[in-house]
Amino acid sequence: MARIALDIDSTLHHYWDLIERVVLDRHGIEIPYEKQTGWGIAALDRDQAVAVIQETHSEANILAGEPYPGAVDTVRRWHGESHWIHVTSHRAEETHGATTRWLEQIGMPYDDLFCSYDKVTRCVELGIDVLVDDSPVNIERALEAGIVPATIVHPWNEALVARGHVVAGKDWPELAAALHPVLARD
Ligand SMILES: [Mg+2]
Repeated sequence: MARIALDIDSTLHHYWDLIERVVLDRHGIEIPYEKQTGWGIAALDRDQAVAVIQETHSEANILAGEPYPGAVDTVRRWHGESHWIHVTSHRAEETHGATTRWLEQIGMPYDDLFCSYDKVTRCVELGIDVLVDDSPVNIERALEAGIVPATIVHPWNEALVARGHVVAGKDWPELAAALHPVLARD
């Protein structure tokens, strides 16, 4: 059986609509999804970006997250096939409670939850086989650590996906199909 790590933002739910709204409210700047080809929010300085991301991780915002179609069903199937599910999110430790409630609310089965700013180190410690994460930084780090990276395709990871080292799908059904041979061999 495989040990699977799952990111949350832009992996289990869309998230960009939320970050777009917070940036517009706070700064009056539009950051359309299609134009987000880089990693990070170019229009904001570091402190502004940190404050925006913190707001997206308020309890109310976490609980309002709508999972991508097929995400919960796929993970439920993997869990039923005895794969071990580690949910890992780049968010403050204090969000653990709200994140637990959200996972329960959407009916997501999992074995372990980790909220931190250093997910790949933890994945290595846990012997993770596959990391599903949209971040180009985490994809690169997973590759270096011998973990199979997988992701939903987004403008910010398209170029990396095109290089062919990442298992990818435009949506969860496509991603699940692409991961099938990887999970079947474990
Ligand atoms: Mg993410």
